[in-house]
Amino acid sequence: MKTDCRTRTSVSPRRPQQQLKTQRDWPKPLPSDALPLPVSLTNRIFMVLFFSASYYLMRRWRDKITTSTPLHMLNLGEIAALIAQLASFIYLIGFFGIDYVQTYISKSGDDAGPWDLDDDDHASRGNIPRSRGCSNRKAQTPTIPTPPPPPMQLLSGKTLGEHTDEDIASAIREGAVPSYSLEAVLVDCGRAASVRQRAVELATGRSLEGLPITGIDYASILGQCCEMVVGYVQIPVGVAGPLLLDGFEFTVPMATTEGCLVASTNRGCKAIYQSGGATSTLLKDSMTRAPVVRFATAKRAAELKFYLEDANNFENLSVIFNRTSRFARLQDMFCALAGRNAYLRFTSSTGDAMGMNMVSKGVQNVLSYLKHVFPDMESISISGNFCADKKATAVNWVEGRGKSVVCEAVLKGEIISKVLKTSVSALAELNMVKNLAGSALAGSLGGFNAHASNIVSAIFIATGQDPAQNVESSHCITMMEPVNGGQDLHVSVTMPSIEVGTVGGGTQLASQAACLNLLGVKGANLESPGRNSQTLARIVAGSVLAGEISLMSALAAGQLVKSHMKYNRSSQNVAAASEIYLLVYNLPHSP
Ligand code: ADP
Repeated sequence: MKTDCRTRTSVSPRRPQQQLKTQRDWPKPLPSDALPLPVSLTNRIFMVLFFSASYYLMRRWRDKITTSTPLHMLNLGEIAALIAQLASFIYLIGFFGIDYVQTYISKSGDDAGPWDLDDDDHASRGNIPRSRGCSNRKAQTPTIPTPPPPPMQLLSGKTLGEHTDEDIASAIREGAVPSYSLEAVLVDCGRAASVRQRAVELATGRSLEGLPITGIDYASILGQCCEMVVGYVQIPVGVAGPLLLDGFEFTVPMATTEGCLVASTNRGCKAIYQSGGATSTLLKDSMTRAPVVRFATAKRAAELKFYLEDANNFENLSVIFNRTSRFARLQDMFCALAGRNAYLRFTSSTGDAMGMNMVSKGVQNVLSYLKHVFPDMESISISGNFCADKKATAVNWVEGRGKSVVCEAVLKGEIISKVLKTSVSALAELNMVKNLAGSALAGSLGGFNAHASNIVSAIFIATGQDPAQNVESSHCITMMEPVNGGQDLHVSVTMPSIEVGTVGGGTQLASQAACLNLLGVKGANLESPGRNSQTLARIVAGSVLAGEISLMSALAAGQLVKSHMKYNRSSQNVAAASEIYLLVYNLPHSP
């Protein structure tokens, strides 16, 4: 790994006169701290007073004009309103000068002693911009979340950003500046990451040399992909292919540090290609979310279940659900009970988004509505684990979640022996003994395969998917059955819960978007929303098929190596088989 790619352009050695040793050396109290009420509260009071008085006086003025009463004739209420208006006006004028005055006083070196840097205090002071963007922020990226702002006025009246990176990092280490607020205050997100990395080094005494800072667009990360950023981890991306799937050729990007994985998948792609290609079928496209609600009795919970599963209520509920998004379309609701707790599993299409956020919004809307129908319903959580997200569950295995895909190919016997160095019967037998019987013996849930998760994870990381969803996305049953009188092999992978999207999350990051672009599925499909993410799911399944074929063949060939060695076959055959053997045993974590 390169170690020289990190630059800390703004880091400079500490200057002794600016060395900030303790929290006490940091910001000084502001004059407004002495007020009996917080400035933000008095601001609001005087704003309301000013506009109320103005409104009252204008109404009185209009009345006087319509009744021809002289304007200068004032009653008690009008005099009071006039005084209130004048007083609040003077206050508001003064308010605009507060920042200037405070800066002036701060500059004059009036020392007021230590100040407890409570973030909420800063927020209430209102003297820091609430939301400041990174300088290289793109227009379409979300606005920065507004943390309670840190001090802007430091020694010598400098703003935080005017200090050196080293000084700011020291201040973070000492707890004088909250690390999480750096992006908001420094505006330059790259600099914020660099300063934070340095602060971490200072705090831990451990070097982060080798963790790159430059070469990534921090603005596209902020508020969407990661917080407290200190750099990024490099993962090599290899390509497997061409994967001939449904008549199209795909070059599949795989991000992995597992040697042989890409090579192995590539070999599987070759076998599929030379056998005429693979075919995929999308069985279902539905993301799920299952909130949990509670009633006083199980009887009431059951009433909710019957209500939700009554076809007459579906249309009404789907209108409420669908209102939250152009793409979310409620498909089904299923309710399971655990005593008086009800778990409502909503399934919805989500266009090209993986869809968790989208479905959650729809579910929230329906829950609000249900509260009117069932006032005694208590919402416990928007997710009750019956969804089920990022966990191996029977409900996903049976019902599916995200995209359910089956992908198949008929491998020609000659290709199996030429490319895969094994045989139809050896593969079929190994699949039965290992992937089916062995997994059953292990009590596997959705793990009736050789290494689906290897391929799923590598593609997920390359294309900006949520890697944690590898858990259920890797549910897969691999079947290998001799066909054409035992000449050829029908191979299939059935994957009920592939959770992928081509918009949202990490898919918009430059390198991940490049990988999606390689597959021709970058971003939203404008002609047919949802088609890009569905194609990506098919590609995942097709690649898993290739991975299964290759590893299973290598394992089958490994048996051959042992046989060859045992029965003292020719050295040439042993050498050829040993290559495969090495391929197998060089695959870390492969079974
Ligand atoms: P997720 O629900 O997967 O977490 P987001 O919350 O980011 O993803 O939602 C995706 C966003 O992308 C939504 O705001 C949606 O309106 C927008 N969008 C634009 N085009 C599409 C599309 N073709 N399919 C799905 N969402 C789309």
